Amino acid sequence: MNRFSNQVVLVTGGSRGIGRAIVERFAAEGAALAVLDYDRDELDKVGREWKEAGYTCMTFPVDVSNQEQVDQAVAQAVSAYGKIDVLVNNAGIAWEEPFLDIQAQNWRKMLDVNLNGMFYVAQRVAKEMSAAGSGSIINMASTNGLVGEAKYAHYNASKGGIVLLTKTMALELGAFGIRVNAVCPGYIQTPMSEAIDSPEFIEEYIRTKIPLGRVGKPKDISGVFAFLASEDAAFITGETIVVDGGQLAF
Ligand code: NDP
Repeated sequence: MNRFSNQVVLVTGGSRGIGRAIVERFAAEGAALAVLDYDRDELDKVGREWKEAGYTCMTFPVDVSNQEQVDQAVAQAVSAYGKIDVLVNNAGIAWEEPFLDIQAQNWRKMLDVNLNGMFYVAQRVAKEMSAAGSGSIINMASTNGLVGEAKYAHYNASKGGIVLLTKTMALELGAFGIRVNAVCPGYIQTPMSEAIDSPEFIEEYIRTKIPLGRVGKPKDISGVFAFLASEDAAFITGETIVVDGGQLAF
């Protein structure tokens, strides 16, 4: 399938985990990519691999919580490609911390990257899309944005914020031909989740919480982003799609 030939897709946090699978899915379907990520060395390394694989891809080392860096990178991507058709607003951080122990600086860090960063990128890209009169924005939320999980108050608050940011953007941007949706993954095996949880924890989690009997893989999520960006989703906006192996069915 070449559903995204002649389309430009901007992905944040694209050098590893779910973001990387999303970059590779859109590239496989013909898109040109602009990838923003924090770690310059990792991004350079992955960027070289993508070029060798034949992808049309530009990389930008950016901290999404820095609005100036975001503005510059988006401007450079638009100047190079002429437009952005799809935004995958994916970059995020997570760690476990009991509510009573959360220091204000940790609270701010989580919200700065996960919520403020997504706002900076979404607003800057939406300005380009509104001028063009079309676009699709997909924000990365989480099942933790829909239900609480102990020891993740800051993370849950950031992802809950994304869900309502998404709905409000959909209300305001529909008139400009821009669709805005969110994806809420459940437990996905990535460098992020591997850094937090032990194999024993994951085994117990699968046994007690996930009806499909396994954790998700980045590929379980990337196809949903491609669907939401595609013509098949032309009448879907303001939606949050849960991809969790049935976890929230309990
Ligand atoms: P990873 O940690 O594997 O990947 C996150 C990516 O975001 C990395 O490439 C990281 O860059 C980048 N990033 C982090 N902070 C910044 C920043 N300030 N500026 C730019 N880029 C940044 O995580 P996942 O792939 O697991 O998560 C991706 C998204 O999916 C996140 O928003 C996460 O909250 C969400 N999610 C994940 C779930 C899971 O179970 N894994 C479940 C539900 C949602 P670098 O490597 O340079 O730090």
